[in-house]
Amino acid sequence: MENEILERINRALPQTQCRKCGFDGCEPYAQALIAGAEINRCPPGGDSTIKILSSIMGTSPLPLDSSYGITKAKAEAYIHEKDCIGCTKCIIACPVDAIIGAAKLMHTVLKDECSGCDLCVKACPVDCIEMRSEKIYHSVGQVSNSEFAKKQRQAVFWRERFDNRNQRHDNLKKKKIPEDKNSATIPFSREEARKEILAAISRTQAKRELMGRPR
Ligand code: SF4
Ligand code: SF4
Ligand code: SF4
Repeated sequence: MENEILERINRALPQTQCRKCGFDGCEPYAQALIAGAEINRCPPGGDSTIKILSSIMGTSPLPLDSSYGITKAKAEAYIHEKDCIGCTKCIIACPVDAIIGAAKLMHTVLKDECSGCDLCVKACPVDCIEMRSEKIYHSVGQVSNSEFAKKQRQAVFWRERFDNRNQRHDNLKKKKIPEDKNSATIPFSREEARKEILAAISRTQAKRELMGRPR
């Protein structure tokens, strides 16, 4: 029963994995909600998410607690590639594997995969990542049915990416390899890096086809 409620709560969260709620992602916040955390800590979800959470939890809706942030237009990360020093810190910080690159080489963001969490911005030691806002965020104003369906598909996608990433990090821990020594930081030859990047692009394209999105 608890698992069922956890799943319902987690599904109601936007899955950006931004940690603005103070927890390590959407599922950890869902677990904290069951343990009694306030329902108004998710800025990306905003009022509409609070409303759904209140109906699941059987409590009254509360206004978003702005000390955790405000709901705003969705932004996507953009890397000023000429300034990138290839340190891989952004790849390690990204909760949904939306950045590709290899050690000491330029990195770039797969724009359509970016959840807008902005965790990579703080991770970059040379401030070469900025957030660019283009679309309407999860709960600002009314959205069309097709836009809503797209958001739902994106949330499922980010959640799966987050789970895969956590699994990978757990595996690294079991093998006692520190996260900053994962494959992204092992020095590559240019040819190996090129292969790695092409493989990442083709994985992404396959995923997008699966989700019915244009290449
Ligand atoms: S979207 Fe961000 S703030 Fe909202 S629950 Fe997920 S991690 Fe927390
Ligand atoms: S690219 Fe940056 S903003 Fe986008 S999901 Fe990854 S860490 Fe978050
Ligand atoms: S953190 Fe900044 S400098 Fe380092 S790889 Fe990412 S974009 Fe490049």
